[in-house]
Amino acid sequence: RLSMRLERVAIHIPKGSILADIGSDHAYLPCYAVGNGLCDRAIAGEVVEGPYQSARKQVAMTGLEDKIEVRKGDGLEVLNPDEATCITICGMGGTLISSILESGKEKLGIAKRLILQPNVGAANVRSWLIDNGWELSGEEILEEDGKIYEILIAEKGDPLRPYRVNKQNGLMFGPYLTEEFSPTFIKKWQFEKKHLERIIEQLDESGRSGLETKRHELKSQISIIEEVLER
Ligand code: SAM
Repeated sequence: RLSMRLERVAIHIPKGSILADIGSDHAYLPCYAVGNGLCDRAIAGEVVEGPYQSARKQVAMTGLEDKIEVRKGDGLEVLNPDEATCITICGMGGTLISSILESGKEKLGIAKRLILQPNVGAANVRSWLIDNGWELSGEEILEEDGKIYEILIAEKGDPLRPYRVNKQNGLMFGPYLTEEFSPTFIKKWQFEKKHLERIIEQLDESGRSGLETKRHELKSQISIIEEVLER
């Protein structure tokens, strides 16, 4: 069975898409999407030999070799610019996702939708989208196996539209997730707040001097989180 995390990603693949799943590992997502008729064809990209072989095996096992091509290479370099209409990049840090998008910009050619699932650092991905003319069109947050995941969906459009209320907070918390204010969202930010408080305690216990700026920075992050949680 597919993880709930990838199932929630798959829900957002437009019907009839040509999907490119970058950093596909076992190619579970493209196999699920093509196998369930969510999209017609898919490309699974992997840069590391082991996961590349796992992807090939999985595609062969599901008998979908004629519809899913597994390609080895770094990020979007495995694509032609006019190939994929939907691109998924999941299960990595936000910085890595942004750098894959940045270095493969010219391969985004006919892509209509990006579905990105950063494990951490979603703010980084949101900024990249803004800087590159992609409008965040939806977000999801979910908890699975004790971890909280965010999914960002983007389409070409007005990148600032979702951030009219508060750009700075929007980048960090996600404009749709803030609006929705789900129990999982609250849990995530309560957890982040505790984490920052623990760092401050450790700074104080270390007894080192010259940490005032750092302390101040952490304090202000905490008060931003409190403000959002206490709305
Ligand atoms: N996307 C799958 C998921 O969400 O379950 C797999 C996530 S796995 C943690 C991340 C995968 O991305 C690894 O298999 C890794 O080899 C691959 N990866 C990392 N950087 C990459 C890059 N620049 N290009 C292609 N694949 C990459």
